Amino acid sequence: KKIVIALDGYSSCGKSTTAKQVAAELGYAYIDTGAMYRAVTLYFLEHHVSLTNPKEIKDALSHIEIEFHYNPKKQRNEVFLNGLNVEDEIRKMYISNMVSEVSVIPEVRRAMVAQQQKMGKKRGVVMDGRDIGTAVFPDAEVKIFMTADVDTRTKRRQEELLQKKQLVNYDDIRENLLKRDHIDSTRAESPLRQAEDAHLLDTSHMTIDEQVEFVMERVTA
Ligand code: C5P
Repeated sequence: KKIVIALDGYSSCGKSTTAKQVAAELGYAYIDTGAMYRAVTLYFLEHHVSLTNPKEIKDALSHIEIEFHYNPKKQRNEVFLNGLNVEDEIRKMYISNMVSEVSVIPEVRRAMVAQQQKMGKKRGVVMDGRDIGTAVFPDAEVKIFMTADVDTRTKRRQEELLQKKQLVNYDDIRENLLKRDHIDSTRAESPLRQAEDAHLLDTSHMTIDEQVEFVMERVTA
């Protein structure tokens, strides 16, 4: 029987890397919900949408179409915004610096959550985000809540950005992670928190393989 696996937690704890591998092992789809909020942020920036104008926001959301397409060359799912591949653009720091402010907007959340629920309707998905186990799929069969100490997360994120040839100062990354964690966990609508029935996974001293194993053990249990 196909299930839903919800991976939530703080920024840069290894959620997406873990989720991807678990999805590959199970032959499930992987859905990166953070990429969807990032794509909305890119659109809002490009179209100068005012974050305090409900009408502009509603209008913008009606013009946004987000899709995931598998890129066999890179062996990864990539996010498309209105037909354009924005996978690389949305990972840049200027998006990271604004995405949490966009994600607090209730209209934005409602639109994204509805789409995520549609994508996972047939189950057989691994979804990573902040509110999957609490709001998107409260009935997910397996829920994991990931955390790690902030310096480990900062180092990992810096490494990741460096691989994409983006040189970002350690303190800027650290500050961005802490800022996002704060906004994400204090917003009114579906804040980041551990679901009561989620397993806590602290990845500070874990390898990716160990993280994947932790999740797989809960799947087969
Ligand atoms: O997962 P990632 O770090 O790419 O997510 C970027 C941002 O998108 C988060 O910091 C958060 O503000 C927002 N987000 C969210 N709900 C989700 C996934 C991401 O609010 N389910």
